[in-house]
Amino acid sequence: MKYTPYMLHNYKSIRQLQSVSPEIIEAIEVVGSVLPFKTNNYVVNNLIDWNNIPDDPMFKLTFPQKEMLIPEHFTEMASAIKNNVGKTQIKEIANKIRLELNPHPAGQIEYNVPSIEGEKIYGMQHKYRETVLFFPSQGQTCHAYCTFCFRWPQFVGIEDLKFASREVELLVKYVKEHKEVTDVLFTGGDPLIMKTTHLETYIRALLDADIPNLRHIRIGTKSLSYWPYRFLTDTDADDLLRLFEEVKGAGKHLAIMAHFNHPAELKSDAVTKAIKRILKTGAVIRTQSPILRHINDSATVWGNMLRRQIALGCIPYYMFIVRNTGAQHYFSIPLVEAWHIFQETYQSISGICRTLRGPSMSCIPGKIQILGVADVKGEKALALRMIQGRNPDWVARPFFAKYDEKATWYNELKPAFGEEKFFFSDELEKRLDTDALEAGCE
Ligand SMILES: *Cc1c(COP(=O)(O)O)cnc(C)c1O
Ligand code: SF4
Repeated sequence: MKYTPYMLHNYKSIRQLQSVSPEIIEAIEVVGSVLPFKTNNYVVNNLIDWNNIPDDPMFKLTFPQKEMLIPEHFTEMASAIKNNVGKTQIKEIANKIRLELNPHPAGQIEYNVPSIEGEKIYGMQHKYRETVLFFPSQGQTCHAYCTFCFRWPQFVGIEDLKFASREVELLVKYVKEHKEVTDVLFTGGDPLIMKTTHLETYIRALLDADIPNLRHIRIGTKSLSYWPYRFLTDTDADDLLRLFEEVKGAGKHLAIMAHFNHPAELKSDAVTKAIKRILKTGAVIRTQSPILRHINDSATVWGNMLRRQIALGCIPYYMFIVRNTGAQHYFSIPLVEAWHIFQETYQSISGICRTLRGPSMSCIPGKIQILGVADVKGEKALALRMIQGRNPDWVARPFFAKYDEKATWYNELKPAFGEEKFFFSDELEKRLDTDALEAGCE
């Protein structure tokens, strides 16, 4: 299958768009001028149900929707386009709006970048003790863009927002020196956008260095969903699978952290075959997704998705809360509601599917999981715990926040039962100068 990307300059050639309303086309144009927009022929022809526009979840996941911008922003950009103000001015307006959309959720760029001998290693991030994130410089884009993605500043070409790296030697050195690191997680964008030869350079360097503490290599990717031909018919697909076998042969665990948001992404022959080929190499596929309004905000959708994943041999891993950036107002679901959906999902599936953890927020202190609504002596509270912590000692300790039906993110939560602070607050404050980068195809 030949890969044909569609972006703002050529989306009008998508045949199926000829039958959708002018309002929908206008929204693509206006919102697509601010937030990144990219799709491709596989998504258009296989994942979207064109008889179900505008409600189709895969359409909303990949095509800009009017409500993704607040009305002021939408009107501003729409009239600029209508008045033919020219490219430079459109760009200026777009950048101004983007900066109002919190492009660095939870702080970014400078923070949590590790260093060796005083030299910062950009393109790397080390927040949780066991796991180093690596952003290969050629992997900072994707086969198609999700409309909710918090990595959007990387895609819209504000150059200095990118964190990338050509520094594979530094990565190897760092992992060698840090015996506590067992995992290297390749992330992006999508590292599997890279040619196999490039990915191989990074992975081979890690394997050749023969680092005993390195046990797990993970690759975060949306390719199975957006371009399964990466594992089937792309010219270097076979090389990629051989590389996977090699990792396994070197005695390392290889985990493909696959990003699926909806069961519609797990239906095609292509994705089914791609999963089979990957599993044959000895790699494991773990799946993760944010819980998103308009896309997968029901236990039925989640249940169907998880059961299908298990049928294909994948292991459910994370349900995330959508981050506070970009079009969050469009996608976000209050924490309490997200937990209700999680609970209903969990109750409706077999133990085999219950490897799913969540709903979890990747925020400043760590990955905070909403355990549920507790009723303690007549007072309602949110029971929480960290699945990952900036300080490993914080992990797995239950703590409580005041019940709040509207809260959509960690920073809106207050300690319950008259406490002034969460147990980690003081220490966190001291550590705030090492804030987190955002990463992973979550
Ligand atoms: C999610 C995440 C990881 C991986 O965490 P696991 O629980 O091991 O999957 C690593 N680093 C950062 C910054 C993360 O957000
Ligand atoms: S969520 Fe993943 S696949 Fe989607 S645009 Fe973001 S990085 Fe790319």
